[in-house]
Amino acid sequence: MKMKFTPLFFIAFLFSLNISAQENTELYDIIDEVSSERIEKDITKLVSFGTRNTFSDTTSTTRGIGAARRWIKAEFDNISNNCKNCLEVFYQKEIVTPEDGSRIPHKAAVVNVVAIQRGTKNPDHYVIMSGDIDSRASSATDFTTDAPGANDNASGMAGTIEAARVLSNYKFENSIVYVGLSGEEQGLFGGKGLAEYAKKNNWNIIGVLNNDMIGNIDGVDGVIDNRSFRIFSEPVPPTETERERKMRRYYGGEVDGISRQLARYIHKTTKEYLPEMNPMLIYRLDRFSRGGHHKPFNDLGFAGVRIMEAHENYNRQHQDIRTENGIEYGDVLEGVNFKYAEKLTEVNAINLASLAWAPLAPEEVAIGGVVEPSTKLKWIKSNNPNIKGYKIYWRDTTSPTWDYSRYVGDVSEVNLEGIVIDNYYFGVVAVGKNGFESLVSFPKSVF
Ligand SMILES: [Zn+2]
Repeated sequence: MKMKFTPLFFIAFLFSLNISAQENTELYDIIDEVSSERIEKDITKLVSFGTRNTFSDTTSTTRGIGAARRWIKAEFDNISNNCKNCLEVFYQKEIVTPEDGSRIPHKAAVVNVVAIQRGTKNPDHYVIMSGDIDSRASSATDFTTDAPGANDNASGMAGTIEAARVLSNYKFENSIVYVGLSGEEQGLFGGKGLAEYAKKNNWNIIGVLNNDMIGNIDGVDGVIDNRSFRIFSEPVPPTETERERKMRRYYGGEVDGISRQLARYIHKTTKEYLPEMNPMLIYRLDRFSRGGHHKPFNDLGFAGVRIMEAHENYNRQHQDIRTENGIEYGDVLEGVNFKYAEKLTEVNAINLASLAWAPLAPEEVAIGGVVEPSTKLKWIKSNNPNIKGYKIYWRDTTSPTWDYSRYVGDVSEVNLEGIVIDNYYFGVVAVGKNGFESLVSFPKSVF
């Protein structure tokens, strides 16, 4: 039978093209599908390798980082088998020697495990979720003592594997990369290696969600909190030019770099879809004087943030397992709250999905309206047929979040009557016909 093209059908079709993201129940499905039991199983497995120090044994089938990374690769391969080979799984490695850093005891390969779920529309644009394979004992160069690293960072690694399991059942426009990085504890070597690999292979990175310690709710500060977590983002990229730095004095943007926009996006998605959670935007690259694997990506000008628990427990970080003066030390399984790790994995999964389903952010956004009663914005209209239109966001200069917005349709410029440029910051997003929004593009030039 031939289907009749009735007007009613046509109207229904039109409406189906203009839905908001929240009417897409997929993100709720994804939340439901993430499993704390599987995360617990994977963290337990990672802990069973005894130590995952980057310089530990690579030949044993049961102990050391070699066995751990082979197990992670096998997990990604299994996931791929279950989705008709939807993942490209491979090892990416560099050799490091003692000359590369004081915490390198001997020459070794720093091996990352990478799984790419190729996007259907923009295969060369990537959203990345990372965790770490490696762990450490009290000394970073001690590669034989037990270092279970249950929270630091089997939690982030298990979350990454679980996100791959869940999201591999869906198809996305942009590519998603799930990665286990190594060499974190001796100087962020794995992240550096992969960031350089990405640069060399012309990856367009939408953003890196680096997960480092997503399982501890029992803080050394005495606070027990299974709802809060932190999103660390640096203010502006370290790669900005001297000219860009000077221009910021006149046009603003001190707190509006690409990593900060990624952090705000994660904050907003979490508030909308996981309202029981309390995401904290932290306006710094990482914790005071400490680092993580998003930094090497930031170093090369890529957007990247660190997602982690709100209250750390230093007795359970980088500590040999022991009891001293009645205090138990060591990063053991008992210190991980699997339900909390599940929640933070859900945060990652819905943001990866949302960014991989969304159009790319608008390019060449420019702003105008000096000594005028209204603010003007213009940008280059994309020829992506999946774009419904564009949305302007703005906020008070003291606000951390994009509090005001206006959908302006499929246009390339807008005049915001009565909104004075001096009193707000502005940005533009592309909105897909599926309702998903890109990251905010902060204006790069003035007209
Ligand atoms: Zn660590």
